[in-house]
Amino acid sequence: MTEVNLTLAEGRALAMKCLMANGCDEHNAAAVADNMMLAERDMCSSHGLFRLPWHVASLGAGKANGKARPRLDMLAPAVIRLHGDRAFAPVGHRLGHAPLVEAARSNGMAALAFVDMYHVAALWPEVEALSTEGLVAFAFTASLPYVAPFGGTKPVYGTNPMSFGWPRKGKPPLVFDQATAAMARGEVMIAAREGHTLPENVGIDENGNPTRDPEAVLRGAQLPFGGYKGSSLALMIELLAGPLIGDFLSIEADRDDAGAGAAPHGGELILVLDPARFGDPQGHMDHAERLFDVILSMDGSRLPGDRRYQNRLKTKEGGFYIPRSLYDKIDELMQ
Ligand code: NDP
Repeated sequence: MTEVNLTLAEGRALAMKCLMANGCDEHNAAAVADNMMLAERDMCSSHGLFRLPWHVASLGAGKANGKARPRLDMLAPAVIRLHGDRAFAPVGHRLGHAPLVEAARSNGMAALAFVDMYHVAALWPEVEALSTEGLVAFAFTASLPYVAPFGGTKPVYGTNPMSFGWPRKGKPPLVFDQATAAMARGEVMIAAREGHTLPENVGIDENGNPTRDPEAVLRGAQLPFGGYKGSSLALMIELLAGPLIGDFLSIEADRDDAGAGAAPHGGELILVLDPARFGDPQGHMDHAERLFDVILSMDGSRLPGDRRYQNRLKTKEGGFYIPRSLYDKIDELMQ
């Protein structure tokens, strides 16, 4: 059999066991394993158990701290600094969530400047959790230099994702979460492994020439989505998740890694707005639904996040599948 079927409880137990065999204490392992199971539940397998080997490599290289104890500092009534203690991001999110919600409700808006952490996760779990509480949320993180700025030839930006969440009445929030690269790094790597040609405008080779060869792109640079417009968003994210909060740019995270092959070490900025303190505390959700209705009235159009929510319903009964090769790899990592 080429795939292994696991329930979410089995997947969580496997992730916990693997992380704890590689230097995590129970507190840190639980935060990461729970986050991975959110991804598996929604069939976002690129951020599920697939990422365990990278977590283990980051721990083994002495980079990420499996026994981290992040701590909070209030820099201003609405600005919280979350010191990661080199934790994986979900460990810090657990600590920062409630104080961030409270600060947003007290002040109308709040920011969480999360520093000194290792981010291997998707952004949507935390953004969805914040918008489920009725808040509008944004998250940004940089990573490692994979993407050339528009017109440039060398990798400078990370694949720099950004996520946005909007609360809805009686429904899960609207959430998008997208990288600013034309294609996820993992997809380029899979294309290289499987010998596929890439679509146009995904990357350039080491000499800056456009190429559809994934190996050449991995040696050269990926491109931002949408030309100079995506490039500016990637630039913005570098600034928000780096210099603004006093953490690494992607090029600095690469130097910090020094060839260890660990996950990106750096920062994340999370912004939250409380709609109760803006112009239409009672009507904003119904007002937004008018827009969603128009979008959904068109054949072929959907809201971002809906694919995940539909997948979530399917996973409850059937569990999820991982390749046998990944299952065996995880087993090896525990020996
Ligand atoms: P995708 O391109 O797969 O999807 C991006 C967004 O677009 C999703 O919210 C998706 O919703 C939405 N979407 C897709 N198709 C449609 C459609 N037809 N109509 C409306 N909305 C649509 O994601 P990416 O490859 O860009 O990123 C994948 C993940 O990787 C993200 O979760 C990101 O956080 C993560 N990442 C993490 C990094 C890190 O350093 N930690 C670095 C880079 C990426 P839906 O989910 O419902 O399909």
